Amino acid sequence: MYDLIIIGGGPGGYMAAELAGRGGLSVLLAEKRTLGGVCLNEGCIPSKTLLHSAKVFDYASHGAAYGVYTEKATLDHKFVVSRKNHVVATLVNGVKSLMRASKVKVVNGEAYIIDGKHVKVNDEIYETKRLLIATGSAPVIPQIDGLSQGIKKGFVLTSREIFELEEIPERLTVIGGGVIGLEMAAYFNSAGSKVTVVEMLPKIGGPIDSDISGILLKNCRQKGICFELSARLTGITENSVIYDTGETEADKVLLSIGRKPVTEGFGLENTGVAVRDGAILTDRYCQTGVPDIYAAGDVNGKYMLAHTAYREAAVAVNHILGKPDIMRYDAIPMVIYTSPEVACVGETEESAKAKGIKCETASVPMRMSGR
Ligand code: FAD
Repeated sequence: MYDLIIIGGGPGGYMAAELAGRGGLSVLLAEKRTLGGVCLNEGCIPSKTLLHSAKVFDYASHGAAYGVYTEKATLDHKFVVSRKNHVVATLVNGVKSLMRASKVKVVNGEAYIIDGKHVKVNDEIYETKRLLIATGSAPVIPQIDGLSQGIKKGFVLTSREIFELEEIPERLTVIGGGVIGLEMAAYFNSAGSKVTVVEMLPKIGGPIDSDISGILLKNCRQKGICFELSARLTGITENSVIYDTGETEADKVLLSIGRKPVTEGFGLENTGVAVRDGAILTDRYCQTGVPDIYAAGDVNGKYMLAHTAYREAAVAVNHILGKPDIMRYDAIPMVIYTSPEVACVGETEESAKAKGIKCETASVPMRMSGR
């Protein structure tokens, strides 16, 4: 009998496990792939290691403006990927140690919920007082002509496969100009690909402020990235991406049009937990409508950021431990690690107006900052 069983070992799951373990609860954490989840293995960390190499390369290539001269900087993608693998392995090992130090039992296997008090992993049934679901999210794959064929052939990649590419494609088309799409466009552009971003909306960067989105767009274009805006994907051929306003040939395609919570295939329906628009419904304690079942991280479909998952995990565990705490979503920071980087927090002018919140705006040029 465990005090808490956690399904999923990403930021939401491992943070909850650590805090609950340190709080004196007996905890079992089930992870079907690798501890660290999407963030450590195929998300935040891989993308940030690649982008760091791109930034060092860009600085080296354009150092003359600052009195720094190099013969001719080159970027060795194979080395970048092996460094990324090393960074990921180090961090995954760090999470393993954290679990040991917090006395968390980690089971490597796919968990299946029999009912709110019983979970099966690797043919073993475990009993628990409470459950925390942190199964995360997966890329959205729409029904589009030729897309599943393109994925099968390795022509179309998601964020999971792109980090394993051994060669830099001559031409890369990125479908989706949100955070993930832009960060990958920035890396592959620096690494030498001819990059085209196809975005359905008239702006890039998802929910970021329109003025800032415009500045980022201008900067990315100056660096050589092409953008097809207001362009809706309609098909994939053997060597091109088709959208309603045109077609772009490519050697590889990255599909990054969004992510959806993982709520199917692990017996969630056996719990009575409510799911709306594909996401688990939670309250301000990160509790579902079913007593003793909590959910944290991407699976609630709210912010889909690692630090949000950490915070939700902390709130859920504090609620279990009887410590007063609530989850607030009104000031969650977000960064796009392109060059220049973009950071935001809270409402944008547009979102405030849409909610009828009266607001004033002010802009300060970056040159006002001495640094
Ligand atoms: P996940 O990390 O998705 O982990 C869920 C885990 O559950 C997985 O390991 C999965 O294998 C496991 N699982 C699922 N079902 C089962 C089951 N039945 N049994 C056992 N295990 C199961 N966020 C940021 O804050 N900053 C960034 O810079 C950033 N960059 C990103 C870049 C990319 C390319 C991507 C894809 C995402 C990025 N994110 C970033 C988002 C971040 O990765 C997620 O918000 C975060 O990983 C969510 O954590 P989670 O614990 O909810 O889920």
